[in-house]
Amino acid sequence: MLINILEKENLVEFFEAMQSYGEVVAPVRATDNAHRFQPVKGIDELDLDYTRTMIPPKKYFIQPKETLFTFNKEKEKYLEPPSIDKSMVLLGVHACDINAMNLLARVFMEELPDKYYLERRKNSVIVGVSCTPDEKCFCKSTGTDYAQEGFELFLHDIGDKYLVRVGSLKGHNIVKDHSELFAAPEKGDLDAFKEAEKTRLSSFTIEIEMSGLQDHLDMSYDDPLWAEYAEKCLGCGSCNLVCPRCRCYDVQDYINLDMNTGERVRMWYSCMLKDHGLVAGGHNFRPTSMERLRNRINCKGSLREEMPNCVGCGRCTVFCPADIDFVEILQKVRGDIK
Ligand code: SF4
Ligand code: SF4
Repeated sequence: MLINILEKENLVEFFEAMQSYGEVVAPVRATDNAHRFQPVKGIDELDLDYTRTMIPPKKYFIQPKETLFTFNKEKEKYLEPPSIDKSMVLLGVHACDINAMNLLARVFMEELPDKYYLERRKNSVIVGVSCTPDEKCFCKSTGTDYAQEGFELFLHDIGDKYLVRVGSLKGHNIVKDHSELFAAPEKGDLDAFKEAEKTRLSSFTIEIEMSGLQDHLDMSYDDPLWAEYAEKCLGCGSCNLVCPRCRCYDVQDYINLDMNTGERVRMWYSCMLKDHGLVAGGHNFRPTSMERLRNRINCKGSLREEMPNCVGCGRCTVFCPADIDFVEILQKVRGDIK
């Protein structure tokens, strides 16, 4: 891993350098207590000192709703949307979200390559930034509080400088092309990084034991806790929509009144919605709210591609309108609390 130092006084120049790689998208304060990723034109618009955005940055790779293609039956023509090769710099992404996108990349780029995801990732630069956990973060428990891959550069705040880890060849070339902005680290910088890491790791206030969690979930299949939480659940699906690792989607064809032209649309979908389990013939294999809630927690508490299917970002708890606490459920499943 190559390491460099970026003085904070060079941040404006760094931002301007990033603009040469594409439209910069970064966290912006949306309200007093919420941030969102959006395109920014100047460094004064972004806020790198944030905890979490409501919607994770995955929205730039799999869009909440997008036209996959339009069609004309008569002419036997399919037209793909023109915008998928737009260059983008995703600046200020936290380690949990990078780790979440690493799983999405495996699903959408390796198993059955999805050209939309592939093109967007190929044309993007991801710049991570370190963060301080709040009382809902538990990414240390899921082992996703530190990103080892899936970024070009990662900025660690060490006071009046950033220690910059280089995570890809593209990142290496960025540093090479803008070498005037970077310096080699000195011993004091490395010591400051170690101290910052110690402080970050000691700031976590909640913890979940992940080992054997899947077995605990299996053993809790008939536990009355599912019905208790389902009683409170509104079935709104927000917990899925804010989750950086959720990747269920629905595909629908919209046919115009001419019965000849139309479009195929892909949109995020939620396993907490009643018709998620509805199949041909009208059978619903998860008809009750209790079954849907149990399914979601089981899905999140298990491994996918040898990685936990939850990155511990805390979003599903923070943004649940019914105050259902994901960690509390897992702690009950493990018998840590009653
Ligand atoms: S966000 Fe909360 S209320 Fe909405 S479906 Fe998820 S658990 Fe239920
Ligand atoms: S399950 Fe909840 S805490 Fe885990 S990654 Fe998804 S939104 Fe974050």
